[in-house]
Amino acid sequence: DWKNQPYIVTVSSIPNQGYVFMFQNTDSIQTLIDRLNNHFFITGLITAILTIVIIILLSIALVRPLNKMKEATIQIKSGDFSISLPDIGNDELGKLAKTINLLASELMHLKEERSQFLATISHELRTPLTYLKGYADIVQRKNLSIEERDKYLSIIQEEAKRINTLVEDLFELAKIDQYGFEMKKQTIQLSEFIAHLHHKFEPAFLHQSMRLHVEMPQKDINVNIDSARVEQMLYNLLDNSLKYSQTATETTLKIWTNTKDLYLRIIDNGSGIQEKDLPHIFKRFYRGTYSNDSCKGGSGLGLSIVKELVNAHNGEITVKSNSKTGTTFTIMLKGAVLNEKDTFSR
Ligand code: ADP
Repeated sequence: DWKNQPYIVTVSSIPNQGYVFMFQNTDSIQTLIDRLNNHFFITGLITAILTIVIIILLSIALVRPLNKMKEATIQIKSGDFSISLPDIGNDELGKLAKTINLLASELMHLKEERSQFLATISHELRTPLTYLKGYADIVQRKNLSIEERDKYLSIIQEEAKRINTLVEDLFELAKIDQYGFEMKKQTIQLSEFIAHLHHKFEPAFLHQSMRLHVEMPQKDINVNIDSARVEQMLYNLLDNSLKYSQTATETTLKIWTNTKDLYLRIIDNGSGIQEKDLPHIFKRFYRGTYSNDSCKGGSGLGLSIVKELVNAHNGEITVKSNSKTGTTFTIMLKGAVLNEKDTFSR
């Protein structure tokens, strides 16, 4: 019992002689144990203090950026997108901060785009509405001849038509922009579909003393497309050919396929698109030089609608234009062609 007794004792027997008792003073053991205990206590204390300090430092390091991110998201929620979280590395927190920064700049961009879009719409609507009001006031005058009245009424009709087209185009874009916009694809016999379109569009060309020539494969091909959307694409492109071509010219609608993809090409001999306009014609509300000059142009939304619809079909649209030969738009609808096996299984 070294804790309570002054000595520890060992006893050894020596055969036939007796016993040897050995005594060891327990003071030195107790001093050693006390010293060791002191060391353990101090080490434990230092470890505990260090652990607390590290926990505090770590939580400050983690919580501070998290708090900043929380503040940033509250700021975004209240509509202020001018936030910029500092770069805190490439770990999970750093990636989260970068994503929040990206989200804010995307939202800022969307906000700017939206206000610009609204400003353009109101400008686009204001002009024809001003005409409508002005000519309606003139038509009300008593001393107007019948010819003059007819002239002003036809302008009113024309402007009302413009507003109608603009609103329809905007409605179409709003539908495409909607979250979850879905294509209604069906299996369609290509030649029947194109013949139907030819029949539908030809009168508009004849009315302007123009010709619509259609070239398409003679064999039966089935395609998987949203026919209403493809009709809308062709309508917009053919309508442009009508608007930007002179009388007695010809527009060709050429259709062909490879094993998987469907190609639609519209070739006109119209005024062509100036080189400086070409990179911008698919932007919303962009009108080329000619359409501004001659007031022929529509809303400037037609081609942006076509582009969105082509994208929704997983396709591509390209344009080539030249003021001498006219304009060629080519649409490629990826994977639209069904081979016999697909037709059977779909
Ligand atoms: P718009 O309603 O003005 O026709 P679009 O988006 O359909 O708007 O076309 C954008 C611009 O591209 C037009 O303003 C016009 O300048 C040019 N453009 C489009 N198609 C043709 C074409 N077939 N021939 C000449 N210019 C064209």
